[in-house]
Amino acid sequence: MKPKIAILATGGTIAGTIDSAIATTGYKAGALEVENLVQAVPQIKELANIIGYQIANIDSSNISDKIQLKLAKKINKLLIKDEIDGVVVTHGTDTMEESAYFLNLVIKSDKPVILTGAMRPSTAMSADGPKNLYNAIALASRKETKAKGVLVVMNDKILSARGAVKTHTLNLNAFSSPDFGDLGYILDGRAYFYNFITKFHTKDTPFNIDHLASLPKVDILYTYSNDGSGVAAKALFENGTQALVIAGSGSGNIHENQKKILKELMKKNLIVVISSRIQTGQVVLSEEDEDLGFICAQDLNPQKARILLMLALTKTNNPKEIQEYFRIY
Ligand code: ASP
Repeated sequence: MKPKIAILATGGTIAGTIDSAIATTGYKAGALEVENLVQAVPQIKELANIIGYQIANIDSSNISDKIQLKLAKKINKLLIKDEIDGVVVTHGTDTMEESAYFLNLVIKSDKPVILTGAMRPSTAMSADGPKNLYNAIALASRKETKAKGVLVVMNDKILSARGAVKTHTLNLNAFSSPDFGDLGYILDGRAYFYNFITKFHTKDTPFNIDHLASLPKVDILYTYSNDGSGVAAKALFENGTQALVIAGSGSGNIHENQKKILKELMKKNLIVVISSRIQTGQVVLSEEDEDLGFICAQDLNPQKARILLMLALTKTNNPKEIQEYFRIY
């Protein structure tokens, strides 16, 4: 019997159109509906019984906590109550790594959840969406994909949700895992895994979003020479931001201008996690910074650190306990 796979469409370039086969920019993302995506790849019906849902239809640069919550709740329902065998999420590539990591932390099933998208709109000569969708359905249909956490499939590569990063603005080979490497690849519909991830995910995390209508407000600031972003930190805090992730320089350093203001705000209970503007490697905090309550993002980039921090804040406001979440997930 063929597996039952649900496609949850959220928009992006995979659903993008423009009236020129040459154009790979300037198109409208999120123009096609999930039915159009399915019709464009009739071969997926040989792999699985497909059911489509439209969760949103946006350019993923406009993704919100609200859409991510809606997506996660729907996936939990489909996999747990409705007995669907696997889920494929079509998503814009700009923020795919954020939604993938979010789902990796909140989905309560070990059935396959695969995110895919496209770098070229559906109308482009040599559009990559159809093959990416085929690969994602093929992967979601296989039993061996179980319990591997949420996965990203782009350009024949299989990446972990935690490791996947968009590392090229326009190239078809836009995703890689700079710190871990890929998990495997797909060739003619068959998956070949050669790597695995040891971090806890899906059923093995404590985060439960089923009862949540919103997530704690967490923002990101960058540090740079002559850093003037302390003003922004203050303004965000006054507007209800509970926690900040700082894209630090090097192994997690912050310009003294900004750090001075962060220390003042931390006395008023602002939570601060330090990540890095550098794409690979660990953040290391001095003992003094740890004692002040700064939290180390480990190897998570700022946008992924923000996702984990929002979820950690649904559990605790204690910096030491939040630090523990960053060590584990
Ligand atoms: N801006 C688009 C989006 O993220 C890019 C893409 O999907 O490739 O929705």
